[in-house]
Amino acid sequence: MRVLACDGIDPAAVKRIRDAGHEVIEAKGLAAPDLVTALKGVQGLLVRSATKVTAEVLAGAPDLKVVVRAGTGLDNVDRAAADARGVVVRNTPDANTVSVAEITFGMLLALERHLAGAAADLRAGRWEKSKYAGRELFGRTLGIIGFGRIGREVANRARAFGMPVLAYDDLVRRGPAGFEWVRHTDRDALLRESDVVTLHVPLTERTRHSISTREFGLMKPDAVLVNASRGGIVDETALHEALVNERLRAAAIDVFEREPAPPDHPLLRLPNVLALPHLGASTSEAQRRAGTDAAAALLEALAALPTR
Ligand code: NAD
Repeated sequence: MRVLACDGIDPAAVKRIRDAGHEVIEAKGLAAPDLVTALKGVQGLLVRSATKVTAEVLAGAPDLKVVVRAGTGLDNVDRAAADARGVVVRNTPDANTVSVAEITFGMLLALERHLAGAAADLRAGRWEKSKYAGRELFGRTLGIIGFGRIGREVANRARAFGMPVLAYDDLVRRGPAGFEWVRHTDRDALLRESDVVTLHVPLTERTRHSISTREFGLMKPDAVLVNASRGGIVDETALHEALVNERLRAAAIDVFEREPAPPDHPLLRLPNVLALPHLGASTSEAQRRAGTDAAAALLEALAALPTR
């Protein structure tokens, strides 16, 4: 069969699909209508984040049977339109877990030890020791909202840092096995009691702006927020207000409501914000894993297609 691999899928994944006997066409930067043209006679489509598989694209690609997104979530695939057309949709939910858990701690350490500012000052010739007194993580309570794959990996790392862990998850109410040391609470108690709140929920209608003025009002004024999940979960206007009014001490954010974030984004102007350009899954290991998992999912889905 014919497969279109977009957005720079890992070469090993492309090789694996070719080795299985399929023709692979590689492309970058395609959007409708060019994407529709490229999908003529194509049964399988592999994408990362850049290519948008919209209802319009799906309507113009009658040969397409399988779409695989190499990554967590399916934000760039119109799932409902694919379902309506009988197009199989898969993603690679495990590939980024460790990378995102690691960047969560990377951001937290960078925030609490002022690593970015201190390194930039030193590079500019300024030896600033007293300006950058930081805080330890040891003994401070970490509240994890969303105790799925990434939330649990974050919990394991928090344990190694000597942080007591609270968790709140809609579905996971206790445990799971191996995590008996995590205390599950209701959401408000977690927000009230945590010194660090970290978000690991998907962006849904229920989670959109679920961290807003009310939630910042519950948090300790000395607490910090880490968001390496999705931008829309945090109400950015309310976050800005909480940081400016010292309702919240600081925030580390990897994700924005609109990406790329505009250079004049108000949060980027605040000294108590550490912001990154959505780097959570940007490691060679995560990309390789996403490629391997995506190739496996694609081959499995193509093999399961009914033969005419
Ligand atoms: P997951 O599905 O394993 O876990 C998500 C958890 O959130 C689930 O246990 C679910 O029950 C819970 N949940 C859903 N809605 C909730 C709510 N309203 N309140 C409380 N809990 C709720 O997902 P994961 O692999 O751990 O990934 C979590 C999120 O991380 C993804 O959805 C994605 O948005 C984000 N992510 C970010 C990056 C990045 O580059 N920064 C990379 C990968 C994933």
